Amino acid sequence: MFIDYETFRMRTDALLSRIAGLCRAAGRNPREITLLPVTKTHPAAAVEYAARYGLAAVGENRVQDAVEKRALTAAAVRWELIGHLQSNKARLAATHFDRIQSVDSEKLLIVLDRAAGELGRKLPVLLQVNAGHDPAKFGADPAAVGRLLELALAKPHLQVDGLMTIAPLSDDPAVARRTFAHLRTIRDQQAARSGIALRELSMGMSGDLDAAIAEGSTLLRVGTALFGPRE
Ligand SMILES: *Cc1c(COP(=O)(O)O)cnc(C)c1O
Repeated sequence: MFIDYETFRMRTDALLSRIAGLCRAAGRNPREITLLPVTKTHPAAAVEYAARYGLAAVGENRVQDAVEKRALTAAAVRWELIGHLQSNKARLAATHFDRIQSVDSEKLLIVLDRAAGELGRKLPVLLQVNAGHDPAKFGADPAAVGRLLELALAKPHLQVDGLMTIAPLSDDPAVARRTFAHLRTIRDQQAARSGIALRELSMGMSGDLDAAIAEGSTLLRVGTALFGPRE
């Protein structure tokens, strides 16, 4: 059985105060950080809870699942794609998502830009970087981010809001921290080089959000801590 709204509300209250505490410890303003509830594998009620609480967007990792879920709810939220995107699904993704966080190849840039142009919209994206050099993760190689960013900034129908990463799974919290520090360094270098702010640093999930906040995250993608374990 899926959790009830009251449970969600209490967990979200608790998580937001925890985030505020971590921000204070890191000398950061909690307003710099957005909590993105990750509703993947959960019913449409999860999206409705998020909207009712006042959270503006939800994260989903599969295009088809999100399209189906979206048809089941009238909740006024923005939808963000956080999972790997295949280019044959790019058009569908550009149609149904308000932002795509998992752009990691030139091919995707081309297809998304074309689709957004045909839809008459400017599509916000984040470039996903494999900042932890994890062979099990998608994302552009850190050495290739400069070129990918140049290509992205040249696309008339895409708007690059920043960078995203997923830390390698590890028992050692230092691994996530190093990964997030690396993403921030890449962002700072690329922002200086391009003159584009690249404001968003989408990093940190239920298990590693402390490290992410300490290293400058602006977007925490949290599923388990809010909705409980996924089947
Ligand atoms: C599932 C997922 C999350 C949320 O993970 P939790 O550990 O449940 O908080 C965050 N980011 C991405 C890319 C995911 O696929």
